[in-house]
Amino acid sequence: MIQVGVNGYGTIGKRVADAVAAQPDMELAGVAKTRPNFEAEAAVRKGYPLYAAIPERSDAFHEAGVDVAGEVDDLVMRSDVVVDTTPSGIGAENAALYERYDTPAIFQGGEDADVADVSFNSRANYDAARGDDVDTARVVSCNTTGLSRLLAPLRETYGVEKARVTLVRRGGDPGQTSRGPINDILPDPVEVPSHHGPDVNTIFPELSIDTLGVKVPATLMHLHSVNVTLEGEPTAAEVRETLSEESRLFLIPEEAGIDGTGKLKEFAQDTGRPRGDLWENCIWENSVSMEGSDLYLFQSIHQESDVIPENVDAIRALLDRESKADSLATTDETLGVGLESLFQGRRQRVVPREADD
Ligand code: NAD
Repeated sequence: MIQVGVNGYGTIGKRVADAVAAQPDMELAGVAKTRPNFEAEAAVRKGYPLYAAIPERSDAFHEAGVDVAGEVDDLVMRSDVVVDTTPSGIGAENAALYERYDTPAIFQGGEDADVADVSFNSRANYDAARGDDVDTARVVSCNTTGLSRLLAPLRETYGVEKARVTLVRRGGDPGQTSRGPINDILPDPVEVPSHHGPDVNTIFPELSIDTLGVKVPATLMHLHSVNVTLEGEPTAAEVRETLSEESRLFLIPEEAGIDGTGKLKEFAQDTGRPRGDLWENCIWENSVSMEGSDLYLFQSIHQESDVIPENVDAIRALLDRESKADSLATTDETLGVGLESLFQGRRQRVVPREADD
């Protein structure tokens, strides 16, 4: 069993911890938290060993009546790999801690690319994290993950001449009371390209891609307006078929009556997804259109959860435990990734499978 430590137990960390606990080949060594807040209580209720992320604050846990299993150094020492899910910039500060104990580490997309040996996306470059000389990986951001998953099959099947994407970004996560905008629409950043295009280039160095960012007062998901000039001229139906073969791409059928991210999240909750999570890119099937060699589509990305399957795969890749195909299959199977509607045939399932299904 791979012993996995999770350092930082917020939006991404708590989801990574649950996903790790569900894997047949992994054990959650523990989670490190800075404060004894409601998330610490949830971790304790789940039976996750809790470690104090900041040693000087250990007493705060004791005073709040919460038992800790030790300090973050203890967690790093006893883990085969640490997934760092601390806020942007803190991961880079923590890198020395992981090095000190020679513990391989996985960082998140809020860190600069140079925090790790490789930037990682399961579908696009799993094997890049497997080398003997690779000790650290960075799972790219939610938006870059969504774009990489989409572009990988398009590149392989048709070739991509140029991608142009406008990212309509949620102002903050549902619990992020400190973020906005509250009632505005911001070009963000004003300069073109936004950082997303260069970030996609950490996965596909040769790809020609321009991205623009806009921030809106929403919390549920991001929406990408995508235009990809392909090297071939497939029909829209052929492209839909190609995309529908990918387990982490969900094509929303017209019959579902899902007209936006609000109903998408409602659909996820109705079908029993934990926390209403949508691990898959959600692509409006009817938006998939071809004009000559130009592909157009809209996709939504659930920022809080699409990187979760990728973190699980990154653990196996970094420790060189499984092939890409085996890891993705195990992750999808255990989490229930592969959301598909019952409408119009060729659909797999709409609810998470139990591990022993
Ligand atoms: P978050 O603020 O929800 O959670 C971070 C947690 O780390 C918090 O509980 C915080 O208290 C804790 N923390 C702070 N300093 C710490 C320290 N020194 N040691 C241990 N824990 C510490 O943040 P998040 O949204 O989960 O983001 C984590 C990382 O994931 C960032 O790099 C972010 O860019 C990336 N990411 C976030 C999203 C998203 O939409 N939320 C999507 C993809 C990637």
